[in-house]
Amino acid sequence: MTGTRPDPLIRHNGLVDADVVVIGAGALGLCTALHCAMSGRSVAVVERHTAGSQASGRAAGLFKSVQADELRTRLARCSITKAVTFADWAGTPLAVARPGSFLIARTVQHREFLQRELAQSRRWGVDVREAVHPAGPARLSYYHPADHDYALWCPEDVFIEEPFSLIQACLAACQRHGAVVAENEPVIGIPVTAGRVTGVETQRRSITAPVVVDAAGAWVRHVAELAGARVPVATVRHQLLITEPTAQVDPADPIVRVVDAAVYLRPARGGLMVGGFESDPLPVDPRHQPASFSTADVPLDVGVLERLAGQVSVEAPAASSIPVAEHRGGLFTMSADGRFVAGPVPDLPGLWVASGCNGSGFSSSLALGEALGTWITSGTPPPGLSALSPGRFGALPDDALLSRGLWQYAHYYDPVHGAADSGQPA
Ligand SMILES: Cc1cc2nc3c(=O)[nH]c(=O)nc-3n(C[C@H](O)[C@H](O)[C@H](O)COP(=O)(O)OP(=O)(O)OC[C@H]3O[C@@H](n4cnc5c(N)ncnc54)[C@H](O)[C@@H]3O)c2cc1C
Repeated sequence: MTGTRPDPLIRHNGLVDADVVVIGAGALGLCTALHCAMSGRSVAVVERHTAGSQASGRAAGLFKSVQADELRTRLARCSITKAVTFADWAGTPLAVARPGSFLIARTVQHREFLQRELAQSRRWGVDVREAVHPAGPARLSYYHPADHDYALWCPEDVFIEEPFSLIQACLAACQRHGAVVAENEPVIGIPVTAGRVTGVETQRRSITAPVVVDAAGAWVRHVAELAGARVPVATVRHQLLITEPTAQVDPADPIVRVVDAAVYLRPARGGLMVGGFESDPLPVDPRHQPASFSTADVPLDVGVLERLAGQVSVEAPAASSIPVAEHRGGLFTMSADGRFVAGPVPDLPGLWVASGCNGSGFSSSLALGEALGTWITSGTPPPGLSALSPGRFGALPDDALLSRGLWQYAHYYDPVHGAADSGQPA
């Protein structure tokens, strides 16, 4: 028992064993758990705080169909489909705004970059088109492009207004499909017997399971180290703000991403959401913080957002001029190549990882959770998923991992263009 609340694990199955234990009740952990449960497995999710309380509950809620490679495109589009049809397959409602998005370039180089993205994304099946003035971004309430700006129109793109609504929908679906979520129960050990993981130790109990999924977000490395494994991700701060409500923003307007400024904008709570990717991002490694460290302790700096908003102040005056109603942030798990880190840990049977979100973990969680659930329950990786193996970087040293992860963050919207400039791998 926790206080006066019944212990969900005892209530359901006496919680001494499960087919699958998922560590972490963020978007990725819950989606993976849900899909394992929908395949008939007994599933326990063990969460240190409360579900969605860390990165997932702070996300901007943006889904983006145009991605840097074919696998990410497939996952992103699959997630969009799963989000808008959530009630049909999961049995619980989920509100999704479907206004589409504009990708905007204000420089010649970024125009060429978007033209390459247009061609490759179309090849990969995305509905994306050149936007033509005045029918394109000129019709937006909160963004006023210059005549020479170039834009792509991405009608498939959606957002979830309040990120916690995805968590609530997943929790309800988990309950409906028999996956049990235990909150306020940190995992403190991962026993390994005869070379394989056999379950987890929490502050309250032991749970045996042949499959343990490390979906601990910014703590993924710390948790993997409990089993003696290394997950190659670097954790980096990301922030956004939401302005007070303003008549300058039509709540039905599309999302805008200005690729040369690395800024995203969308209607939010009657105001404008402003987020972006600074060129000199701040790494924050929870392993070097006090044990009590949580996302609420990530140091925020509104000056970063003011500088980013300043880069689009002519086109989006509300981003800089309307008072801030909310400023929030958290940590991204960045990988050295910008792709997810997901799948079984090599040489340690039983341990799986769902991480390396690179800023897309919220929006890709539905597809990645499904893919991992299929892989775990069938034993066969879905097409292309093996490429995300946690072992693919070999023994990449931490300083190289960090510098490449920071680079991926700073070039979130233009990894290929940035790579051409810097010599970094795209
Ligand atoms: C400001 C901001 C905006 C963002 N916007 C977007 C966006 O628009 N679109 C998008 O796709 N992505 C976005 N992201 C990224 C996205 O939020 C993350 O990629 C995603 O939420 C990661 O999900 P997760 O489940 O891996 O992590 P989390 O949500 O952090 O969940 C991990 C959980 O593991 C738990 N945990 C840790 N250690 C233990 C332990 N020892 N025992 C038990 N539990 C443990 C934690 O308490 C936590 O609840 C944004 C992130 C931020 C910070």
